[in-house]
Amino acid sequence: MTTAIGTRTAHGGIVCDGLVKIYQSADIEVVALQGLDLEVEPGELVTLVGASGSGKSTLLNVLGGLDKPTAGRAVVAGHDLMSMRPSDRTAFRRNAIGFIWQQTSRNLLPYLDARANVELPMTLAGATKRERFRRASELLDVVGLVDRADHRPQELSGGEQQRVAIAVALANEPAVLLADEPTGELDTTTAEEIVSVLRTVNVELGVTGLIVTHDPLVSGHVDRTIAIRDGRISTETLRDRGGADGVISREFAVLDTAGRMQLPEHYVSALALERRVRLELERDHIGVWPESTT
Ligand code: ADP
Ligand code: MG
Repeated sequence: MTTAIGTRTAHGGIVCDGLVKIYQSADIEVVALQGLDLEVEPGELVTLVGASGSGKSTLLNVLGGLDKPTAGRAVVAGHDLMSMRPSDRTAFRRNAIGFIWQQTSRNLLPYLDARANVELPMTLAGATKRERFRRASELLDVVGLVDRADHRPQELSGGEQQRVAIAVALANEPAVLLADEPTGELDTTTAEEIVSVLRTVNVELGVTGLIVTHDPLVSGHVDRTIAIRDGRISTETLRDRGGADGVISREFAVLDTAGRMQLPEHYVSALALERRVRLELERDHIGVWPESTT
């Protein structure tokens, strides 16, 4: 299964610094990203979770070059999205990143078979027929679909369609793979299969991956999960699967560059914390009390 493309090393991660995205229409302004800091190392696979409306899709659209950030810094695979010219944006979308949508139908052209869908981005990038055939065969192999190469999307199951979508997203050897709820329309077993394919391409091709999901099972399969709340990163969960006791998972609050952090919502409600809290610095930790306690 490991082929020539399997030896390619990742050459890009993701960095966001105080990223702001404001959607403006005639009468309303929505601040979808409110100074978001994020770092994904080259070759890392990370999941992004958060309530509906917290800014997950906005972040992915900005990182994927589909939406322009309003302020702050976003660098993806070495490309600065703030200063990027429109013509560079098109090349960036075509070559530097791969994007997978939740709707299986949005990822593939219905009248092309799986192989032709995978070859299409390479045609647009000017690859030769021979090169396209070779790479499409390799990618269909990596996602486990060589024997379905001549099937059109409607002849494939939802899970198989998302596998083809992963191959399509990888066609032009992107450094970064962005997926917005790629398992949202699939049952749990199929969703786990898709995550396992994403892990395989991450490990074998060295592609950096950021996957939006609301499925804890999907999240549990990666080493780091980032939670977004109100357009900012609130917590991170790190998983260590090296120990004898199975997977050990720990959740951390995230400090931004100004020293701000969000207290988890259930901590705030458990102690009925309101506008002010009392802080106390101890030798190795910080205490937080409701204002009324003395
Ligand atoms: P999520 O993907 O986490 O559910 P989104 O990124 O889609 O959240 O949305 C974040 C916020 O931005 C929401 O309040 C949403 O209504 C708003 N929003 C998203 N896209 C647009 C848009 N194109 N125009 C105006 N508001 C938008
Ligand atoms: Mg969304």
